[in-house]
Amino acid sequence: MTIATNLTAIKDLILTYEKKYGREEGSVKLLAVSKRQSIEKIKAAVEAGQVAFGENYLQEALLKIRILADPPLEWHFIGPIQSNKTRKIAEHFAWVHSIDNVKIAKRLNDQRPAHLPPLNVCIEVNVSGELTKSGVSLKDTASLTAYCFSLPRLKVRGLMTIPAFHASFIEQRQAYNKLYTLWQQLHQHHGSLDTLSMGMSNDFEAAIAEGSTLIRIGTAIFGERDVSDQVTVTAI
Ligand SMILES: *Cc1c(COP(=O)(O)O)cnc(C)c1O
Repeated sequence: MTIATNLTAIKDLILTYEKKYGREEGSVKLLAVSKRQSIEKIKAAVEAGQVAFGENYLQEALLKIRILADPPLEWHFIGPIQSNKTRKIAEHFAWVHSIDNVKIAKRLNDQRPAHLPPLNVCIEVNVSGELTKSGVSLKDTASLTAYCFSLPRLKVRGLMTIPAFHASFIEQRQAYNKLYTLWQQLHQHHGSLDTLSMGMSNDFEAAIAEGSTLIRIGTAIFGERDVSDQVTVTAI
């Protein structure tokens, strides 16, 4: 299977699931998660018309952003964020999906360059309550969201989650429904929220059924990830 074929197949499935679950046509966007994937594979996706890409590892992402400067692409940072990474993230990305505390939010706001539009952000929520997972707790999400709305260089778009692994469709839907319910509550206070970033290669049907507006798909587009250092080396 080529990357172009994979992209077409996923877009067809998105359309199928939008119809199946009564979602408006075109309401679910596709983010291609290109972490640990080669420049060649990303170029193939760009040639097939894909514009939005998600990356988790800053050094690797910065190399790719530099090499793939033309045509302009839309880069989303979706991985855990350490304080010492915020400046480069604020300078080089259009979106950040993984804000889970006040300190990181403030730093991204303060470091967003004046010549760029406000940084689009999602608050990452830990819906499963696993201690090892990143993400703010369900109960603290409203206050962190309100805080992010007070920061002028951030544009708060919505919520993101990576649930615990569930093999069954029912359990996948239950986890995503928690985020949807919370998103709806927040939307009553913050009418400009328009994004629910949820759904990956193995569970995006459940996410679309539960109201996802943006699915983050890696392996179903690009194949298995390269866990060696090959990607970073080739990128240089
Ligand atoms: C890696 C990753 C994905 C993509 O996962 P696949 O199973 O390859 O589709 C989506 N979201 C986040 C936050 C990731 O880190």
